[in-house]
Amino acid sequence: MGRLDGKVIILTAAAQGIGQAAALAFVREGAKVIATDINVSKLQELEKYPGIQTRVLDVTKKKQIDQFANEVERLDVLFNVAGFVHHETVLDCEKKDWDFSMNLNVHSTYLMIKAFLPKMLAQKSGNIITMSSVVSSIKGVVNRCVYSTTKAAVIGLTKSVAADFIQQGIRCNCVCPGTVDTPSLQERIQARGNPEEAQNDFLKRQKMGRFATAEEIAMLCVYVVSDESAYVTGNPVIIDGGWSL
Ligand code: NAD
Repeated sequence: MGRLDGKVIILTAAAQGIGQAAALAFVREGAKVIATDINVSKLQELEKYPGIQTRVLDVTKKKQIDQFANEVERLDVLFNVAGFVHHETVLDCEKKDWDFSMNLNVHSTYLMIKAFLPKMLAQKSGNIITMSSVVSSIKGVVNRCVYSTTKAAVIGLTKSVAADFIQQGIRCNCVCPGTVDTPSLQERIQARGNPEEAQNDFLKRQKMGRFATAEEIAMLCVYVVSDESAYVTGNPVIIDGGWSL
């Protein structure tokens, strides 16, 4: 028996990184996963796993989200993974960068919750997970102005949903990782003038001397989406190798 037997779990940004690792961990535990993303080819690779159904979804598009919500009969868990890491201080963060990150990291989470929460309320049960970071209201990090702002907002949104709907059987928690070795982290390292130096800079801030793996984050997510965490709500659940100590 799996810990998530029979649970219907919807994930955004599931084609790679933490979202993909979580989707795979959830089906291993018996869940039925609807994995969504905008990356059609990478998403299709997930279809070979029994228990995973895929659907193309751009979380910045309200129409697409509402259409998707209309197609879903019931769900136990909504996991909003989509997000983007912009590197700059407030002085260098242009309005277009600010708007892009606020839209993808915060507004999309608001749209997804607004579309799917009514179904959970009708069922009198539901579990919403959002994706924050320790780079948020938890820890100040250089060159992450709009990213930190968005991830702090996600914590606020999480607590607000948890507080408003606790008596209707709804839980809402956010996962707050440190630095995770995912394709986008590698892209950010490669994009720097000297990738080797960039990799070392990233590693220098890791108190354990290494990055987290996406699988380590996924295993925490299994706990948060399972009934074993039934008493946990409104929490920023930190997994950062001691970075925020
Ligand atoms: P990633 O950045 O490697 O992949 C992101 C995925 O999001 C891609 O598959 C991409 O196609 C998808 N995506 C982008 N725009 C989208 C849109 N508009 N609609 C739907 N999907 C879209 O993944 P990651 O590094 O695992 O990050 C996932 C989440 O975890 C993000 O919210 C990120 O901020 C957060 N996070 C990551 C780290 C880290 O170090 N990697 C640390 C803390 C938090």
